[in-house]
Amino acid sequence: MALTRIAGLSLQAQKTFFIETFGCQMNFHDSEKVAGSLVLQGYRQVEAAEDADLILYNTCSIRDKAEQKVFHRLADFKRLQKEGKKFAVIGCVAQQEGERIFERAPHVSLVAGSSSYRSLPQLLVQIEQGERATGLNDRETSQTFETEFTARTNPHRGYITIIEGCDKFCAYCVVPYTRGRERSRTSQSVLEEARRIADSGLTEIQLLGQNVNSYRDPIGRASFAELLAEVGRVPGIRRVRFTTSHPRHFTRDIMEAIDTVPTLCDHVHLPVQSGSSQVLQAMQREYTREQYLERIAWIRAARHRSIAITTDMIVGFPGETEADFRQTMTLLDEVQFDGIFSFKYSPRPNTPALAMENAIPEEEKTARLAALNEKQREIQRPNYARHVGEIVEAMVEGYHPARGQIAGRSSQNKPVNFTIPEGSPPPAPGSYVPVRVTRAFPNSLAGELATESGVEPGKSLAEAPGPCSRI
Ligand code: SAM
Ligand code: SF4
Repeated sequence: MALTRIAGLSLQAQKTFFIETFGCQMNFHDSEKVAGSLVLQGYRQVEAAEDADLILYNTCSIRDKAEQKVFHRLADFKRLQKEGKKFAVIGCVAQQEGERIFERAPHVSLVAGSSSYRSLPQLLVQIEQGERATGLNDRETSQTFETEFTARTNPHRGYITIIEGCDKFCAYCVVPYTRGRERSRTSQSVLEEARRIADSGLTEIQLLGQNVNSYRDPIGRASFAELLAEVGRVPGIRRVRFTTSHPRHFTRDIMEAIDTVPTLCDHVHLPVQSGSSQVLQAMQREYTREQYLERIAWIRAARHRSIAITTDMIVGFPGETEADFRQTMTLLDEVQFDGIFSFKYSPRPNTPALAMENAIPEEEKTARLAALNEKQREIQRPNYARHVGEIVEAMVEGYHPARGQIAGRSSQNKPVNFTIPEGSPPPAPGSYVPVRVTRAFPNSLAGELATESGVEPGKSLAEAPGPCSRI
């Protein structure tokens, strides 16, 4: 994570903080807001827990493994308490476990929910005085959207939370209990932030929400699709992504927006969870396999380009039979996803699935997960290989010195690693360059800078003449 400093403050005098984030992009963006609030309080961010006065863990409780990670981390660093360092647990585990965290890890001084960074100044005063502090009453607030300062740590992409919380209550999921009810931010405020991001020089925006497309403008001005299109038209913005979409609210107008606004990326992440309508019903997902496939057909019918589709899948949900699992496998064949995030069902506190019968044994879940991933790898091989010979537009994200490769990302969200002619300066991070794809792997593309397409190495595509084909 990049460091954030404020000019004019003596480094010695300044209190320091270290923040480690677990979980999803929403958590990472929440950490950017927490870091912003701390910087405004005069703190300076450092890159190692050992160098910090305040150590914060922004936590995830979506699966048991994610939740346990933070307790391991707290145990690993407990020894630092002797040096006077303070520990804070924030985010979803904090919401879920509350003050029980103090019992499990007595060296923790602060336990606060995902949206409590607005009350951080008061909470910090309490812990500075040697007291314990909690900030857990923020699940219903929509104040979380407006922050005085967000310490943006992704140098290429600006995140904007447009909707908080979730009202869906899927039978397996803890999110409605940790992040509270759905509340949307006004379209006006979203657009203002998008313009600020563009003014700061970032060219990519990602709209965030647990169900980003359940968005409902509190001032009734724009639907989700209209807002998406408007963000895509903000001058200076070249790429817009959005995550995560719920299939139930994936309406045709979202595809119309993608068809008409070229800056909206060639990628839709649409979690399906299971290929079996019976399991989907037990999960309370509120759509069937057929309805999901109908949405896939809309995406495949995009007018000008090929849209990559990725998904989330859960295997081993209680009662998932062999036949149900086969339907998940055949869904992979039918949709030919560009990527999947696959998980073994993990029982979570408070959720209805906890009480369901016919739990699937752990070994069976492991076997199903392995079979699913193996099949998907085989699907991705030809999918990625199809791009060999194409010129794709890559946004430069970094440099792998060991491999002598530049790391980029396509509009379809596929990693594109490429070389540049010997002796040429590497293209600037954040710039867009054409890459000729020469090799494909199941999860990435490799190639070389397509200098003959008229773009000089080191110049961005934006400065170059002519269009660039998308993958
Ligand atoms: N709102 C999004 C949706 O409905 O598709 C998903 C957001 S959730 C934070 C991210 C993913 O975690 C889900 O799509 C699901 O696959 C996975 N997940 C959630 N709860 C889970 C559980 N109890 N066990 C395993 N995976 C889980
Ligand atoms: Fe969890 Fe379901 Fe809400 Fe997604 S829609 S966050 S899976 S409850």
